Amino acid sequence: MGGFAMALPRVYKNQLTGKKMKAQEFLAELQRRFPNEPEYLQAVEEVIESIEDVYNEYPAFENVNLIERLCIPDRIYSFRVSWIDDKGKVRTNMGYRVQHNNAIGPYKGGIRFHSSVNLSILKFLAFEQTFKNSLTTLAMGGAKGGSDFSPRGKSDMEVMRFCQAFMQELSRHIGADTDVPAGDIGVGGREVGYMFGWYKKMQREFTGTFTGKGLDFGGSLMRPEATGYGNVYFLLNMLATKGIDIKDKKVAISGSGNVALYTAEKLLKLGAKVMSMSDSEGTVLFPEGMTQEQFERLFEHKIYFRGRCSEYAANENLPYYSGKRPWTLMKYDIAMPSATQNEINGEEAKALVDGGCFAVSEGANMPSTREAVAEFLKAKILYAPGKAANAGGVSVSGLEMAQNAQKMKWTAEEVDEKLQEIMKDIHEQCVKYGKTEDGFVNYVKGANTAGFLKVAKAMHAQGVF
Ligand code: NDP
Repeated sequence: MGGFAMALPRVYKNQLTGKKMKAQEFLAELQRRFPNEPEYLQAVEEVIESIEDVYNEYPAFENVNLIERLCIPDRIYSFRVSWIDDKGKVRTNMGYRVQHNNAIGPYKGGIRFHSSVNLSILKFLAFEQTFKNSLTTLAMGGAKGGSDFSPRGKSDMEVMRFCQAFMQELSRHIGADTDVPAGDIGVGGREVGYMFGWYKKMQREFTGTFTGKGLDFGGSLMRPEATGYGNVYFLLNMLATKGIDIKDKKVAISGSGNVALYTAEKLLKLGAKVMSMSDSEGTVLFPEGMTQEQFERLFEHKIYFRGRCSEYAANENLPYYSGKRPWTLMKYDIAMPSATQNEINGEEAKALVDGGCFAVSEGANMPSTREAVAEFLKAKILYAPGKAANAGGVSVSGLEMAQNAQKMKWTAEEVDEKLQEIMKDIHEQCVKYGKTEDGFVNYVKGANTAGFLKVAKAMHAQGVF
């Protein structure tokens, strides 16, 4: 590890102070400065604790206070979005874009529309995105944006007017080589289409400034599938380290949006048993495992009719648990949380491990609380944090950018093959930096270390600003 420090220019060596970064002191100071941002502090804490040692192996990093510059976003835009609903009433929402870090490529990260959106959540997501994008091996920096606008219950015209008003402001800050947004919770193909359309009108040019676009205007095949499929590919890599076959394994999934649905689709193809799906109102169980026909009806209900799990469960005569999350409702082998942050708490994690679950692969970003992660690591189960396991989505976004730049379109098979290679590569990086002496792979440490090193070296090489 000393090799990099040795290779630094003399001027850096002469300036070395020998001071070490102390994770707890750094976190206490961050807590003092941003006391009202719990999700952001949670995400930073998880990373800092696991990279403290490797950071201190490169004294030149501390010499330029790299850790603070890496944790605090490059810049944040916040703005009011005014739009008119179908009754003619003028409504306002907040809009944000957090441009976290562009040391290794243009800012890149999704846009979330959900009533819970605030700056703390977007700062955590942008921070995570920086490490995730670094892991993908593609040249992308980290960003995230969004609004506390909820598309649920709004007409298409209302969603369109909101997207246009949001983009009117955001369009000044993004660009194909500057910052490339994509979808996230509440932002799917419809919303990306409206935002891209308005961006194009404002800028008077057709560039790949969004990913997740429709297939007829520059979108990549396999982008909708990529996060869910990618998570399953990552899981397969983890299972292979233990010689476990996915066939007939019982999998609990949370969520029933983009990520959850494509996770279920791929699992069914591989012969696994999908035991649950959920939304923010409750969980539907599949006691015999979901069938292909049940999947197709759920897909239609969710994607085309934007329906609720409660209605689906009633139509299918399946057990439904109002207000409940899946984790303690049944026995299963594998958990794939794919809804939102902090959706598995410490108690649920303990119950999950005690119930015999041996693998957790995160489709959502930071779905497990700090206490839950501690339970998984203590039990030494196969545990993949979101920044590794769900990186397939942004990876195919990177492939969409490459196709747009070349004005070419790859086949679904080509994209899928590249996605599988990237997920294998991310898995290898996690093993390289996360394997402990007893053979256990700490994927949290592995993902954080690999993601960190690339960004940190690039930042160091580019100087202080
Ligand atoms: P969608 O909006 O398509 O689906 C989100 C799902 O999660 C819905 O079923 C929604 O239920 C549920 N959900 C949302 N908020 C909550 C909440 N507070 N409590 C319980 N359930 C909730 O989003 P995606 O599938 O795109 O995203 C899911 C997760 O995956 C997010 O954490 C996202 O950041 C992450 N992710 C997404 C990527 C992508 O490519 N789309 C890439 C990488 C990560 P309801 O309909 O009731 O709101």
